[in-house]
Amino acid sequence: MSLLKAVAEDVGVEIIITKKKMKNLRLRVLPPDGTVRVSIPYHVKEPELLNFIYANKDWIEAQVKRVRARRQVNDQKMCDGGEHLLWGKALSLQIVEANKKPSVVVSDTALVMSLRQGADLDMRQKLLDDFYREEMRRALPPLIDKWQAILGVNVKYWNVKKMRTLWGSCNIQRQRIWFNLALAGKPASSIEYVVVHELLHLIERYHNQRFWGLMDHYLPNWRIGSQILDESVLF
Ligand SMILES: [Zn+2]
Repeated sequence: MSLLKAVAEDVGVEIIITKKKMKNLRLRVLPPDGTVRVSIPYHVKEPELLNFIYANKDWIEAQVKRVRARRQVNDQKMCDGGEHLLWGKALSLQIVEANKKPSVVVSDTALVMSLRQGADLDMRQKLLDDFYREEMRRALPPLIDKWQAILGVNVKYWNVKKMRTLWGSCNIQRQRIWFNLALAGKPASSIEYVVVHELLHLIERYHNQRFWGLMDHYLPNWRIGSQILDESVLF
């Protein structure tokens, strides 16, 4: 694996190879540190793997840079004075060290995070994620109730999680909806748009003319909430 090692050293990353039952080789650069994961089918031999990695070297380098730059921005955000959005409003992070149960409290302009001494950035991030999750779990039930009644649909299960590419997702068969945790940073119009959008999938599966027609009918100004999400970067 000399070439593999050379590429890894060159880019300064760890390359993990996983053999899987699959058709094609797949390459991913994982946050937060830019570890490269290559999934390969069982039949692929070493020369083919090395060629694949080498052919994608430029792409890997660019992705690693991007992922690490984002990590740096995130780390800075988790320090005193870092800006965070809550329901579309900018708040400044204020870190308070206290020997009590960690908590997050919102004041007029600040997100006051109380932590035990020595809590690292990951712990801050986790505390903030928990806070956002609670905000979402508080905001969603009234919206879901309201729109289930209006649309005449029923969702069996819903929950909140971090998603990299979607604001919401709907499993039509199981009538399950997932909402992206990052919606707690967006204005109320955005979360309402996602609620209506996902619930509408219980009526129309595809993003076809009928779907957008229903959207226009039930939430005529849906574009306001949708536009903000289109312009945002996910995790
Ligand atoms: Zn959709």
